Amino acid sequence: STLFDSVELAPRDPILGLNEQYNADTRPGKVNLGVGVYYDDNGRIPLLAAVRKAETARIEAAAARGYLPIEGIPGYNKGAQALLLGADSPLAAAGRVLTVQALGGTGALKIGADFLRQLLPGAKAYISDPSWENHRALFERAGFTVENYAYYDAATRGLNFDGMLAALQAMPAQSVVVLHACCHNPTGVDPTPEQWKQIAAVVKERGLVPFLDIAYQGFGAGLQEDAEVVRLFAGMDITMLVSSSFSKSFSLYGERVGALTVIAGNKDEATRVLSQLKRVIRTNYSNPPTHGGTVVSSVLNSPELFALWEEELAGMRDRIRLMRAQLVEKIKAAGATQDFSFVLKQRGMFSYSGLNAAQVDRLREEHGVYAVGSGRICVAALNSGNIDKVAKAIAAVL
Ligand code: PLP
Repeated sequence: STLFDSVELAPRDPILGLNEQYNADTRPGKVNLGVGVYYDDNGRIPLLAAVRKAETARIEAAAARGYLPIEGIPGYNKGAQALLLGADSPLAAAGRVLTVQALGGTGALKIGADFLRQLLPGAKAYISDPSWENHRALFERAGFTVENYAYYDAATRGLNFDGMLAALQAMPAQSVVVLHACCHNPTGVDPTPEQWKQIAAVVKERGLVPFLDIAYQGFGAGLQEDAEVVRLFAGMDITMLVSSSFSKSFSLYGERVGALTVIAGNKDEATRVLSQLKRVIRTNYSNPPTHGGTVVSSVLNSPELFALWEEELAGMRDRIRLMRAQLVEKIKAAGATQDFSFVLKQRGMFSYSGLNAAQVDRLREEHGVYAVGSGRICVAALNSGNIDKVAKAIAAVL
């Protein structure tokens, strides 16, 4: 037998598999709502003007491409931290907060998971039911046993808040609990500010270890508003981890721009935690890449570029809202009796449409409209050219 004889074929990533199917579809007018990417009204991934300006300046500066520090660009980390906690965080001033540049939100989660696994070898990790499809695999890969906590309520198309609280209350102390800080993927359903207060109280009382995942900051209500949950936990003096992704907010998917932030109990703890995170990074990929980080850092640290970015981000957020409103209206206009107004309450790039697997199959087969089997659709992939078709197709399969 040969060396790799016993290697099994790993299952395909379900969403990437869907993309392959979409690409192979020769029907004109096909629509891919299975993606996790923001497209503009022309169906293209935008290159933000703030990004282009920062990139142009970088190219013109013809800077050498030496290694970055293990933890990344200081200005990037400071900027990422300020986005989460605000510019004048007392915790940051006390030296209790540390941030490291990471390879996207995924990289931040992985560094954090590896670190926590060593720190808490007996702890389980808990993710929402449902959650971003990589959460489970990523924490399992880091060595955790992963369980779900109740989250989505299919009956109300909203949050199963009682179920969620009960699950949190039943978790052993020091369990790692992954929480979507805003714009829940895949459902689009977020707790209300009042519910978050109760969640945070249970997390604190039970001594849980929150790992806040914020991959869509700016796509909910605004950059500052979407960080409220992080600030709530921080204000309650809860020690925690936060993974930030700038993939969507800067439209820089392939540059792998993210950050891991840790709020420690005191300054000395923060120093020691940072040293351990650097060890995880050093033994995995040594140090982060320069380009995306430099661009994001330039934008975050220039008042002019920051203002431009915030405006462009608001444009993306408003366009998604418009698509939500039009989708609801147009499904109704197409004759559907079922009320879709829940889509307006959902936030971020996604919507759990409530369509079942058979309806999703019919959407694809009969109408060339691709959605995830769970019924998740990417509202950010709708545009003025495809929304009529999508609304009619949805009404037709109900
Ligand atoms: N966390 C959530 C909830 C996400 O939806 C995503 C991306 O889709 C990520 C993390 C990972 O982001 P990145 O592409 O920056 O690795």
